[in-house]
Amino acid sequence: MMKIRLAASILLLLAVGIVLPVPAAHAGPVAPALSVVVSPTELVPAQAGFVYVGGGYPLSVSVTLDDAPLDVFWSGEGYIALFAFDFDEPPGEHLLTIEAYNPLTGESLSTTETLTVLDFAYPQEQLALPYRLVPLLEPELNQNELDRLDAIYATRTYPDHWDWPYALPVPGGVVTSRFGNSRTYNGGMWAAHHTGTDFRRAIGEPVQATAGGRVAVADSFDIRGNVVIIDHGYGVFSQYAHLSEILVEPGQIVRRGDVIGLAGNTGRINGPHLHFEIIVNGITVDPIRWLALKPGFVPPREVIPHQETPEEISAGS
Ligand SMILES: [Zn+2]
Repeated sequence: MMKIRLAASILLLLAVGIVLPVPAAHAGPVAPALSVVVSPTELVPAQAGFVYVGGGYPLSVSVTLDDAPLDVFWSGEGYIALFAFDFDEPPGEHLLTIEAYNPLTGESLSTTETLTVLDFAYPQEQLALPYRLVPLLEPELNQNELDRLDAIYATRTYPDHWDWPYALPVPGGVVTSRFGNSRTYNGGMWAAHHTGTDFRRAIGEPVQATAGGRVAVADSFDIRGNVVIIDHGYGVFSQYAHLSEILVEPGQIVRRGDVIGLAGNTGRINGPHLHFEIIVNGITVDPIRWLALKPGFVPPREVIPHQETPEEISAGS
C-alpha cells in the first residue's frame, strides 16, 4: 500500500513538473527550495541591512519588522527587503517575520529572525570652527538643509533592476573622517553626528557613482556645496558633496563607476574632500558598513587624524 502511494506521489510530482509552465522571460535561477538570508543580524545605530528570499520566481513574499511591513522587491535573482536603524536607536532586539510562498510548487516558508541593535556609542570629537564657517552655528541653516534632503529621500521609486553590490565612490580612496562621529563645535555651541564618510580627494579628481540609478539632485546646498544625489530605487540614495564640478543632470541614468562629478571644496569646508552618504528608508546609515554587506569587501585605508586639522573640518558635512 505504502509503495503504491509513494509511486502515485512521484507520478503526481512528475505530472506537476511537466504540466506547469515556467515563464521563461521571468524565470529566476532554478532553486530547489525557498531560502532566507538576513544580513547583518547584529547592528549598531545608523546601520542598514537586508533580507534576501531565494527559491524561484514568482514568489509571494512578506516581511515585517516589529509587525510593521517592509517593502519587498524582486532584485533580478531573489526578493529583497531593506531595514535601517537611526542614530538614536537604543540597544535592544527587534523581530523580523518572513513569509514566502511559491505558487508554482506550493512550497511555503515562515520564519523569524532577531535583529540586535548593539550598545554602541560613536566617538566624540571636539572641533573649533574657523570664524568664516560660523554661519554653520546657525541651527536654522543646518535644519533647512536637512529638511530639503529629507523631502528628497521621502520619494520612493521602483526601477526594474536592482544594482548590487555597491562600490567605493573613489576606488583606492583614503578615508579621512569616519561616519557617525559625534562632533561638538566651539565648546558645545552646536553638535551633530557626522552623516557621511570623508575621502581624501584633491580638487578636480573624479568621483564615481557607487551603484547604478537615476540622478535625483544635481544642485548647490549651503553646507554641502555642490551635491549629486543618486536614487538607486527602493528607498536607497547616495549623496556626494563639496564637488567642484557636477557632470550629470537630474533624471539622468548612471551606472556603477560612472564619473558623476569632480571633487572640490564647495560648501562650508576648509579643504577639499569627498563627503559621501548612503540613505536607506530615509535614514542616513554608515556607508562603509553598507558597502561591507558585499562578501569579500576590502575596507578602504584610513588616515584618521588624532585631532582633526582645519582641512578635515567639514562641519557635519
Ligand atoms: Zn563629511
